Order: sequence, then structure tokens, then C-alpha cells
Amino acid sequence: MIREAILCKYGEVVLKGTNRGHFESQLLREVRRRVELVGNYGVRNNQSTIYVTPIDSEAVRNLDMMYDQLSKVFGFAGICRAAIAEKNMDEIRKTAREYLPGVMLKYKSFKCEAKRSDKSFPLSSPEISVDIGGEILDAIPRLHVDLNNPDVIVRIEIRDDYAYIHAGQDRGAGGMPTGSAGKGLLLLSGGIDSPVAAYMMMKRGMEVDCVHFDSFPYTSEAARDKVLELARKLCEYSGKIKVHMISLTHIQEEIRDRCEEDYSTLLLRRFMMKLATKVAGEQNCHVLVTGESLGQVASQTLQALCVTDDAAGVPVFRPLIGMDKEEIIRVSRKIDTFDTSILPYDDCCTVFTPRHPKTQPELDKVIAQENILDVEPLIEEAWKTRNTVVINQEV
Ligand code: ATP
Ligand code: MG
Repeated sequence: MIREAILCKYGEVVLKGTNRGHFESQLLREVRRRVELVGNYGVRNNQSTIYVTPIDSEAVRNLDMMYDQLSKVFGFAGICRAAIAEKNMDEIRKTAREYLPGVMLKYKSFKCEAKRSDKSFPLSSPEISVDIGGEILDAIPRLHVDLNNPDVIVRIEIRDDYAYIHAGQDRGAGGMPTGSAGKGLLLLSGGIDSPVAAYMMMKRGMEVDCVHFDSFPYTSEAARDKVLELARKLCEYSGKIKVHMISLTHIQEEIRDRCEEDYSTLLLRRFMMKLATKVAGEQNCHVLVTGESLGQVASQTLQALCVTDDAAGVPVFRPLIGMDKEEIIRVSRKIDTFDTSILPYDDCCTVFTPRHPKTQPELDKVIAQENILDVEPLIEEAWKTRNTVVINQEV
């Protein structure tokens, strides 16, 4: 009976110097959290790799699910399922013969690469490669060797405990371990961009809380559910998300009734920044994060972004600033938020939209418009409408 393990190989963490241990423990914590969601697996950390090994038969059956979970852990460059063999050539040959036919069905050509990190192993890496390559050709005669452009690379890794044999390593999720880069507050709308912005910051290790502004009854209950569904999808990467909901209804009515129409979107965005800054302070978030991209809409010209920024009390990160919509959509499909994002919905930004929004706003004119309103009381009133939903990852 072949034993299999999942090998998760460190990415950027290996470049860390004296704080490497800190990043490693965060990686391990995230792996253990996901292991607990799926079943009974052993977790071991050695040689820049985390090994996840099933302990009971149910864990063996759920190995695909475990793999899927581990492929979303930030901090790994590569991930693979591998057969485990005792460290002698007879056992390695036998395991390769039994294991590889089942996992190489879709390939026509291969190349065998051995890596001997245990230097006491009697054969050199090239010798192991030739030996096992021959074994594979013998066991699966339809395959041929292609050293330059193989369909798959079969790897034999002679590590300190066992030999690991695998055909095809996948890319890991990349990035830095979850929780290694402090906490930010994402302004989450129901659109395509903001979930992608969240994913990009999460990928760099940031923990992300969300704030969503609604404008009930101008925006619907369905729009709110959609935002929670997006947060649920993001939980696949971060494990847990808090979504703070705040109503902008009265603020929007005041802007509509008392200010010049052309400024309304910018004024609204400044209120969002002020309220988000308040949430960030309360929740210990160091920065705000938005899905804005330069020039995408009138409120995202350089001048408009500066006017918006001026209202924020903490730095604003805009990870999509230099991305085209097409690139953003590609990521949103990858993280499975796209289909939810394109469901028809209304956002507070899309009710009462001005016919001719200012694309080159001057800050003093915007502030003059803002000062027509009772800003502080409006902020206090909106703050009281806040309610928080905590979402935990489920499998
Ligand atoms: P998205 O950017 O998510 O696709 P969008 O493009 O419709 O939605 P914009 O109007 O361009 O959103 O707003 C730019 C950014 O402002 C969003 O990416 C998001 O970070 C923030 N934002 C917009 N509307 C809201 C909202 N109702 N609640 C919280 N944040 C919002
Ligand atoms: Mg947008």
C-alpha cells in the first residue's frame, strides 16, 4: 500500500534572515488551521518544506480536499502530492512502479530529476535519475523521455527521512504567510475590483477586515447579501473576515439636496474615507485598501484620487492602481469572485450619480461644498448605524 504526503515548499520565506522563524511559525499556524478544517493529518516542518501526511483512512480519502486547501496558503512557491518510500533503491524503484502509472495517465513524455539532499545516500542524483527513468520506461512503455520539453518532470527527492516521488508539482499560492503583514481595512463594494484588491493584500500577508456602505432603501437587501457572499469567498484565503456595514442613506440625501450635483460622487467618497478611517482606528487597521485603478472612472483620475485621499486619516493602499480591467477580471475569475461580482446590483455609488462628474476637481472647491453640510453630526449619525458580521471559513 503506497503512502502519500503533500509537500508544501516555501516561497519568499526562504529569503528571510533573522526573522525567518517568525514567518515559518505563521505558515505552520495557517497550515494547522486548514488541517483542522479537513481532518486528521500530521504536520511537520523541515528543509524549507511543510509535510502534511494523512493519519487515518478518512484523511487519505480527503487528500484532494486537503490539497485544495493547502494550495491556497500564501507563502508556498510549490505544492505536490508525493509517494513516500524508504531510502533504498529497491524500495524507491518498487514505489515508483506502483505509484507513477496512476498519476501519469495524461502524459506522453517525461524527464526524471533526482535531488539528493541527504548526501549520505549511496547514489548520486544523476545516477538515481537514470535508474528510476529506466524503471518508469519499463513500467509504462507508452512513455518516452524528453529532456528538453517533457510533459512532466518526475522528481525523486531523497530527503532526510524518506524518499519522495512525484510527477508534477503545482505552483503554490505565492506571497507571504497570512498574518505576517499587519491588518488593513478594505472598502468592499459589490463590484469586481474590491475583492481582487483584498486578495492582493492578503497575498502579501495582510489580514483584511471589510467595511461596506449601503444606502438602504435605495440599495437593496440583495446587494448586501452579495457583499457578504464576496466576503465568504475571500475567507477561502484568509480564514476569517469581519464585515462592518454602515448606512450612508442620510449622507447621500443631504449631498443630493444641498450640494452641487457634479461634486456628489467625490463628496460621497470623502465621507466613505472618513468613516472607514474611524472603523480602522477602532479595529486596529493600519491602512485602508480600495479597488481603485487609475483612470477607470471619473472618481479615479489622479486629481480625484488626491481629493479622496485628503479625507483619509491613514494611508490608502490601492493595489489595482496600475492594472487594466482585463487583468483584474482574470484575477477575479481565478479567486472565484467574478460570477458573484457581476450579479446585477445597486451600490450606493450608483444611486444619485451626477451627469457630469468632476474629473479634474480642485480640493478647495470640494471642501467648500463639503462645508455646506454638517459633516461631523452626519458622520456620528452614520457611525451609529454600524453593524458587524463575522464570517469564518467553512469547507
Ligand atoms: P469595484 O471597484 O469593487 O468593482 P466599482 O468599480 O463599482 O466596484 P467604484 O465606484 O469604482 O466601485 O469604487 C471604487 C472603490 O471604492 C471600490 O473598489 C471600493 O474599494 C470602494 N467602494 C465603492 N463603493 C463602495 C461601497 N458601497 N462600500 C464600500 N466600499 C466601496
Ligand atoms: Mg472599480
